Amino acid sequence: VRQLVLVLGDQLDVDSAAFDGFDAQQDAVWMAEVDLEATHVRCHKLRIAAFFSAMRHFRDELVGRGWRVDYHQLNADGRRDSGPDFPAVLAAAARRLNPRALVVLEPGDWRVRQSLQQSADDLGLPLEVRSDRHFFDTIEQFGAWSEGRRTLKLEDFYRSARKRHNVLMTRDGTPIGGAWNFDKQNRKSFGKSGPIEAKAPRSFRPDSVTQEVIELVAARYTDHPGSLENFDLPVTHKQSLAALRDFIDHRLPLFGEYQDAMWTDRPFLNHSRLSFALNLHLIDPRRCVDSAVEAYESGHAPLNSVEGFVRQILGWREFVRGVYWTKMPNYVDRNALDCDADTQVPASYWDGETEMVCVRDAMRSVLSHGYAHHIHRLMVLGLFAQLVGVHPRLFHDWHMAMYVDAIDWVSLPNTLGMSQYGDGGVVGTKPYCASGAYINRMSNYCKSCKYDPSAATGGKACPVTTLYWDFLDRHRKQFESNRRMVFQVKNLEKKEIELPEIRERAEGLRARLAAGDAL
Ligand code: FAD
Ligand code: SF4
Repeated sequence: VRQLVLVLGDQLDVDSAAFDGFDAQQDAVWMAEVDLEATHVRCHKLRIAAFFSAMRHFRDELVGRGWRVDYHQLNADGRRDSGPDFPAVLAAAARRLNPRALVVLEPGDWRVRQSLQQSADDLGLPLEVRSDRHFFDTIEQFGAWSEGRRTLKLEDFYRSARKRHNVLMTRDGTPIGGAWNFDKQNRKSFGKSGPIEAKAPRSFRPDSVTQEVIELVAARYTDHPGSLENFDLPVTHKQSLAALRDFIDHRLPLFGEYQDAMWTDRPFLNHSRLSFALNLHLIDPRRCVDSAVEAYESGHAPLNSVEGFVRQILGWREFVRGVYWTKMPNYVDRNALDCDADTQVPASYWDGETEMVCVRDAMRSVLSHGYAHHIHRLMVLGLFAQLVGVHPRLFHDWHMAMYVDAIDWVSLPNTLGMSQYGDGGVVGTKPYCASGAYINRMSNYCKSCKYDPSAATGGKACPVTTLYWDFLDRHRKQFESNRRMVFQVKNLEKKEIELPEIRERAEGLRARLAAGDAL
């Protein structure tokens, strides 16, 4: 073999730069399901199945083109594995195929990138790492943008990306609609009446390839968290396009307005549920942005929704990738709030067993679908973990295990950075912290909860509220110097009399969680 093209599970795109110059007569593709990727954090069953299913569909597509694909497939009993991890499986393939060189698209995980380079060195083979065209910007372009800036602000990056890529811009260089964002219109709750009926995301029934994977995962990873019952993700390029169309047609028009709202048993609401397809490269982000802009131009969707959606993809998604590659490898060790290295996520983050209705509902979504929408992630599960004092690295590990869309480059800046403030203000300028009052305002959860969101002390005190005041108190010194936290810290003065009881109660809550109790 002349070149062996290594295709990782999140690089499933026939137009990928990895295939530039591919010659089916001389070259081959290597893909591998490896046990360690499923077990180095104990992954959600649906996450493992979703990756393997999409990979096997992609393999079949390449084979259908007449390409040679060396595919390492896991079986239920593990007896036919040619190794536990990428290096071992790749070494076995190299012995069989005897390639003269290896080619790979930039991996989305710093650890994998290092390990592939090490493998290539050990095998004595050159490894060509190609730049990923899947994103609007290259890592180098982000580097050029960030160079010399004291702080990296999403808003600055987003505006420059809108201009550079000419998205939602007028001819004279101003943003369409006269503003860069419509956040004020995009923070509505459903009030008392409940959600405006939104069509659920399109469901893709498992075919025989997926069915086989589901059986493999059920047999091999029995003690892993989560359920396989609701497997309905798009696992091919064609299905992903259909999922995008379905979102644009049915949920985009109200996406903006209700972006931050939550409601019991409504995991998706008006969200797109496209992150899995996007992150595995089953669909191109430009296609998503272009389709949304077309929906605005044709009058199908309002500007606040379209701009809100564009901001997520052209703004946040590109921004966090840039942050990841600019700040790694040290970024993963950041712990700006000095959290205790042993503080784990609560037991309910694995089994959903808790009487806190907000956490229970978000976890129901995670366990059933390997998914939770942004506000569940940020303002319920992320918020509670932060207030408890979970170590940001451990929160990240948990997230990597539980979500189908988690890849290191996107998960780490969101978990350790945005959600836990572990990076001390690189991704977000202040910690996203709030009391139960926020959850009460944005959802119907508190109405059926045994806790009272307004109470920090007393028999019915809401754990989120108690821990919120305790969190501000514990970090008071650090937060006082943050301009955007002044208001919240100032409010602590009103709690001065209650504080001894809050501290004691918070200590008790943390001790119960550490002992594995459910609240
Ligand atoms: P929508 O709400 O419909 O948004 C559209 C798309 O915008 C998403 O599919 C996604 O590709 C992109 N997007 C939106 N917000 C972000 C963001 N902050 N960063 C990057 N892309 C964004 N997203 C992941 O793809 N993988 C992760 O591992 C991940 N981990 C997260 C962890 C935490 C704690 C938080 C707060 C957010 C995380 N996000 C992650 C971002 C965001 O929550 C998800 O992209 C989104 O919820 C996926 O659902 P959706 O496709 O319905 O998104
Ligand atoms: Fe969550 Fe507190 Fe509301 Fe219960 S009262 S749902 S714990 S915020």
